[in-house]
Amino acid sequence: MRLLLVEDDAMIGEALEATLREASYAVDWVRDGLMATTALKTHGYELVLLDLGLPGKDGITLLRQLREDGHATPVVIITARDNVEDRILGLDVGADDYVLKPFDAKELLARMRAVLRRKAGAAAPVLSNGIVSLDPATHQATSPEAEPSILSNREFALLNALMVRPGAILSRSELEDRVYGWGEEVDSNAIEFLIYTLRKKLGSSAIQNVRGVGWMVAQA
Ligand code: CA
Repeated sequence: MRLLLVEDDAMIGEALEATLREASYAVDWVRDGLMATTALKTHGYELVLLDLGLPGKDGITLLRQLREDGHATPVVIITARDNVEDRILGLDVGADDYVLKPFDAKELLARMRAVLRRKAGAAAPVLSNGIVSLDPATHQATSPEAEPSILSNREFALLNALMVRPGAILSRSELEDRVYGWGEEVDSNAIEFLIYTLRKKLGSSAIQNVRGVGWMVAQA
């Protein structure tokens, strides 16, 4: 799952980038509002983490423009405690949630999961297509063909990308986009290898190959 992190503070940005990658998100980090706008125009993101006080273009302006342009990408504002007016404004112009700095990384990750869940129209925290189920909080996957297992970060990122839209086919480059962020090296057979290890854990029919197009999980 690919995220855009918009944060101009180097220390917070570095810590967040590491936390998010550890939680198996593909992260692109930009440090000003203008670069964020460019990134949002050129890449698809599943979620944006948005600081409000930014050089180039402030977060509120950026968010307002994003919504005016019809982008429905979920946005979580990350901002300091002394900005109550901005937080209210942020929600009113289209943010999905906000967290206060300094924040607990676990809480931020849980709020992100909740926002993504609402976005997918799913009330239940566990993703399922009726065959395979995947818990975004614990990375545990279950399938009728195998014992429950905990997925690696990359395995989780790949399976999650497929599980949010059962029946939708994702190509290799679409999967790479969701599993890897900018500057992360991607081996040419990396996606095939992850599919292979996932099938070993979940059974060979858990992920289907559509020859010449990509991969999918069955729609229940
Ligand atoms: Ca800032």
